[in-house]
Amino acid sequence: MKEKNEKIPNPREIEKEISDFLNRKYGDQVKIVSPIVMPQSEQSEDSSESGKNRHDINFDLRPEELIRYLDQYIIRQDLAKQVLATKICTHFNRIRYQKGEDASGEQMTGGIKNNVLMIGPTGVGKTYMIKLIAQKLGVPFVKGDATKFSETGYVGGDVDDLVRDLVRESDSDIDLAQYGIIYIDEIDKIASSKNYVGADVSRTGVQRALLKPMEETEVEMKVPHDPISMIQEVEQFRKTGKREKKSINTRNILFIMSGAFAELPEIIKKRTTDQSIGFGAKMNTQEKTVSILGQAKAEDLIEYGFESEFVGRLPVKAIFEELTHEDLLNILRNPNNPVLLNKRMDFATYGIDIKFSDDALSHLASQALGENTGARGLVSVIEQALIPFETHLPSTNIKHFPVTLEVIKNPETVLNNWLSGMGGEQRRAEFDQITEEYKGFIKTYLQNNRNSLTGQYGLPLSAYRIDRISEFYCNHVAEIAQAVKAVKSYYDQIKRIEIEFYNRHEINIVLEEDAVDFILAKLIDRSAAIRAIDDKLSADFEYGLKLIREKTGRNRFFISRYALENPETFLNQLIKAEFNKADADLAAVDLKKHNEDNSSI
Ligand code: ADP
Repeated sequence: MKEKNEKIPNPREIEKEISDFLNRKYGDQVKIVSPIVMPQSEQSEDSSESGKNRHDINFDLRPEELIRYLDQYIIRQDLAKQVLATKICTHFNRIRYQKGEDASGEQMTGGIKNNVLMIGPTGVGKTYMIKLIAQKLGVPFVKGDATKFSETGYVGGDVDDLVRDLVRESDSDIDLAQYGIIYIDEIDKIASSKNYVGADVSRTGVQRALLKPMEETEVEMKVPHDPISMIQEVEQFRKTGKREKKSINTRNILFIMSGAFAELPEIIKKRTTDQSIGFGAKMNTQEKTVSILGQAKAEDLIEYGFESEFVGRLPVKAIFEELTHEDLLNILRNPNNPVLLNKRMDFATYGIDIKFSDDALSHLASQALGENTGARGLVSVIEQALIPFETHLPSTNIKHFPVTLEVIKNPETVLNNWLSGMGGEQRRAEFDQITEEYKGFIKTYLQNNRNSLTGQYGLPLSAYRIDRISEFYCNHVAEIAQAVKAVKSYYDQIKRIEIEFYNRHEINIVLEEDAVDFILAKLIDRSAAIRAIDDKLSADFEYGLKLIREKTGRNRFFISRYALENPETFLNQLIKAEFNKADADLAAVDLKKHNEDNSSI
């Protein structure tokens, strides 16, 4: 999500803007000369403190954890999720392992990198998946288009530019850039084909040019005569105090190539018909295509027009399925989906709360399916449906916009009615109904992803918390992560109550989950502040718990919601359970007297 306020540019961005401007105006005869800035001292302290580079990759993510994370965002593509999550996880864990094994950083000679070939139509989540993985791992990611490459580089750029872009993405941190992910789309367009005349030589040339970077090569950081790369050099020095590193090694950079490969199933079929693999008669076309593509072998890709060396450097294959109507609908229902979040944001800027009914979403999904661009079609159909409302509603006092099936099917009639002041009550009723329906979806989503969200945010998701998170989500334009974090921040405050109690009285209390939820409700509806809760706990429990501790030596107590609501009964029960009869009677009298004295103050 973008920050609301315009960010103040950092010195590097200012330098870049000035340099771009001068370049446009005068060509490259004029260059900006940056003053030599000394490295920032805190940063150098930072890295020496940890005893290692600040960007040594250091994660202990396991493939299943990464798959569960992807499940929160990506509909379907289970096979691709499994292959990509596993192989990318292994790629980075392998680097870490090798570093640990051999302090010199030397790696196995001839080790094969898990570069990936992704096959699948447009708009089905290929880029989205890689972006999410890169984000989760904290490694930089850049995307390029194979059709822009030429064998010598300089038509639209080449793979070296992408490597350098990684450095830009890493905020000039070359060490981090060396663990980046480079994604190259439309790779099927650089296959040489018997049908093409002339262009073939250069297609093969582009493949050859990719071979070295895909394996290992040094890419010069500095592009001759490019002021930006010079500025970056200064910036690198300023940050790290090091000057010497001017090239990027691609040994650990993961390459992911993707394309639709429209004719590949035919090639595979031709090869396999003789071998009687037999694709099940009951499968539908979509299943058949995926199943056929799953059988793709190196020889098929070579037949498609790739050099064998090129295919050899892409040992991992991930097949993406086409999305069905139901998949598109589920994408829209997913609370993390950026399409609806963006729309909610667009309307929120005019103070309008917009919510979509499920039948409207289903209709939009059908329309998008007809566009044949996968989930990309969703954006265009939604934009098209809502434009008239986005034009007119901001000038009215309509603040709740229910997108019903009627709105999608007859936008003009509905809009004209509303603009002439009709249907206000119905609109409000529909909006409330949709909000309830919507909350239901969010709850289901949270329940389905309970384990991974709990692990990710350290917030156990009780039924009550799920309710509050979905409520927060419905009332704010926010991703699920933000809604979970909002509730988590209350949870953290509540956990600190236990520490505060210990600091005050040296007694360990453990708030049980129902007690946490009881306090959570008070904090969220602001009927009590954390300080007041600390004080009340002390008033209610300090004396009684100390009595018990003195007698029994016990110093750890579990506090339930029942205990919070009935402290005296709770303490008496505890005393009865822990003391002998005579002592219990005495203690009960003592406690009663203490409470009476206190309440009369
Ligand atoms: P491509 O497969 O062409 O790389 P993208 O991954 O860029 O397509 O998909 C475009 C957008 O559509 C994504 O940003 C995402 O919002 C949505 N999208 C596509 N596929 C899925 C999916 N399987 N699950 C959830 N959202 C998806």
